[in-house]
Amino acid sequence: MSVLERYGTEVSQRKKFAAVTHIIGIFAITSVLVATQASGWIAHSLALSSVAFPVWQALRCVKQHFSTESIGGHLLFGVLSLVIALVLFGVPAYLTIAPADSHYHLAATSAFMLVIMLIFMLAFAVNILQSLLLKLRSQVHTDPLTGAKNRHFFYEIAPKLSAHAKRKHETLSLVACDIDYFKSINDEHGHVIGDIALKRFSEIIQSQLRQEDTLIRMGGEEFLILSPQYDGDKAAQMAERLRKTISETTISARGVNISLTASFGVMQMPPGADLFTTVKSADQALFDAKANGRNKVIMV
Ligand code: GH3
Ligand code: MG
Ligand code: MG
Repeated sequence: MSVLERYGTEVSQRKKFAAVTHIIGIFAITSVLVATQASGWIAHSLALSSVAFPVWQALRCVKQHFSTESIGGHLLFGVLSLVIALVLFGVPAYLTIAPADSHYHLAATSAFMLVIMLIFMLAFAVNILQSLLLKLRSQVHTDPLTGAKNRHFFYEIAPKLSAHAKRKHETLSLVACDIDYFKSINDEHGHVIGDIALKRFSEIIQSQLRQEDTLIRMGGEEFLILSPQYDGDKAAQMAERLRKTISETTISARGVNISLTASFGVMQMPPGADLFTTVKSADQALFDAKANGRNKVIMV
């Protein structure tokens, strides 16, 4: 699973560059300090300021995910920022004017330990909270009956995926899909059997997709497949394979054998187009497939 899908955000080139520059910078400065045997306060100031970047990033991360409007939240961030600012800037400033006696070493060591401790505490808290957030987000984005993604996912993540494809100049195709005459399955066998059939249908589709494809249950027995790197022709071939597999598979549900067919509308996202407009076009193609007798694939 990509970083984008997992967190709904990308690690930008700028952030990667900053992290690498930071690591190289620490190495370079350390080498210079060792080679020149720089004085204590310079070494300590640089050592302390070298942790400023990860601390700042950790704080931003916490704030981004868990910022609350409560007074307690603001207070916590205020105190934490103050402590960090004091340790990073106050202690080096103090060390520059204080005499180099035993207090000096004590102050520098304890300040350094404090920063390390803060980083570990922050990392720990972020880790726990982020895993909880991931669990929650995955539940919010998953349809409980079929295990496919749901409408929340579509509105929140799909536009980011399409924007990503646009930025990277990647092809993206959409396949809208709807089971034919599904109401009659419910009418004939009841909703429980209908639910089992719907779940099996989704499993069959999912088993035929590539890892990069995303199956979304848009509602009822309507699904949408996002197919990155597939042009319209390839997506139509995939839809045709799905159509054939579905029509040739007999679904067993509590002793009842059910045969289903489904109709498909395929649309490749035109360069610069909006995702929602493309979905509308795929839906229109699906509507045409229904109007043309169902159990069909139509590409715009
Ligand atoms: P068409 O070929 O035109 O798509 O006909 P259809 O009967 O599939 O379409 P229609 O939209 O008229 O009916 C969809 C039916 O799907 C209505 C509802 O009974 C059923 N349905 C929607 N969601 C669920 C569900 O979660 N479980 C079950 N068992 N049935 C559902
Ligand atoms: Mg239907
Ligand atoms: Mg329908």
